[in-house]
Amino acid sequence: MEKKVFIKTFGCQMNEYDSNRIYDSISKIGYHKSEDQNNVDCYILNTCHIRDKAKEKVFHEIGRIKEIYREKTKPVMIIAGCVAQAENQEVLNRDPYVDIVIGPQSYHKLNDILKNHIKKKKIEETEFDSVSKFRYYDGIENKNNKVSAYLTIQEGCDKFCHFCVVPYTRGPEYSRPFNQIINEAEQLVKNGVKEITLLGQNVNAYSFNENSKAYKLSDLINHLEKFSEIKRIRYTTSHPKDMTDDLIECYKKNKKLMPFVHLPIQSGSDRILKLMNRKHKVEDYLDIYYKIKKLNPEVEFSSDFIIGYPGETEKDFSETMALLEEIRFVNSFSFIFSPRPGTTAANLEIVDKEISKKRLIIIQEKLFKNQKVLNKSMEDKNIEVLVENKMTDQNKLFGRNRYLSAVIFEGNKNNIGNLVDVKINKSNQNTLFGEVGKSMKAA
Ligand code: SF4
Repeated sequence: MEKKVFIKTFGCQMNEYDSNRIYDSISKIGYHKSEDQNNVDCYILNTCHIRDKAKEKVFHEIGRIKEIYREKTKPVMIIAGCVAQAENQEVLNRDPYVDIVIGPQSYHKLNDILKNHIKKKKIEETEFDSVSKFRYYDGIENKNNKVSAYLTIQEGCDKFCHFCVVPYTRGPEYSRPFNQIINEAEQLVKNGVKEITLLGQNVNAYSFNENSKAYKLSDLINHLEKFSEIKRIRYTTSHPKDMTDDLIECYKKNKKLMPFVHLPIQSGSDRILKLMNRKHKVEDYLDIYYKIKKLNPEVEFSSDFIIGYPGETEKDFSETMALLEEIRFVNSFSFIFSPRPGTTAANLEIVDKEISKKRLIIIQEKLFKNQKVLNKSMEDKNIEVLVENKMTDQNKLFGRNRYLSAVIFEGNKNNIGNLVDVKINKSNQNTLFGEVGKSMKAA
């Protein structure tokens, strides 16, 4: 009998990818995706554990769902993702409304769990088993038919930065077999996907050996370039330690790799980078930056910043701000340090909240200004946009430029999936506005 399922996804692109693959997989046992979260047989929260209050957010969501279904048949309540991996038993003990807790590397078991699920029987499944997860998904067609799609190539991390939960919630680094990834890319292309973003917690650490060939991220990017249907290639999230020369070379040679590098640095102070166990110095990061800029001056950098890391002094913070004078980071993220349970920095003395808040305002003012300057520089110019979809108010289209900035413009929906030239006539911090330019390039 057809059943309905709704997945609410929190956190990173990898959770979004996993949610799509869960939809693909459980449709095999009659659970079909529903947009109506108020009337489903199975409700899945795909959770994120990266910042404080993550756990409380999950219990708040469960409370909200209980309200929705107070007078209705209770759906099978599933907690998935990184909170499931990190807080599994506690979630089951704390709220009997939850039926199943399943970690990110156990999704290949979900169909059997759901098929054999008996009311009131609680299930916890949190084994780290990426090999089986992706071998299983290799047999399940990826039905994503959006213009831009995520494709996970690597999972887990061995870096153990002192503030990060990922090594504990996603396990050790695992790189998927090269051909398995290419097979899935072919499915996406067949579905009409024009842009692929390769995902990994440490995506540039991708390394797969087969027949004495060591495949790296650059091999994947260059292989995807051969697909005529693919217009754009992106990848995220990287670590400076793994920005190897073969990958850097791609910014010169590969015409489909977008000139936009998301490379978290977290702090501009070597002392703080050491305390964070980031395994590199600011000069190593600058070396990568200038190497890439030399090969392709159009490249822009985006990054992540943690403010108020335990021990951060005014001097450390001023070194971060000095780095922002040297590199005009755009489309970047900045957060106040959030102690994560189980990490090395979990119990360190934190910087006074008011000081951290002040520093966050200072760095965000600078980052937002960078964004405005970049967007302003595109006004009165024709820029290339990949058209992703139609906006709700009918005659506007939505797409992104090569720097992932949102572009809203007048245009015909036949442009969806095409690269078009858009004449930008105004901009703000987050969005560019315009109309389709004279020279339209068909995809
Ligand atoms: S490299 Fe990234 S994912 Fe890995 S531990 Fe550090 S911050 Fe976390």
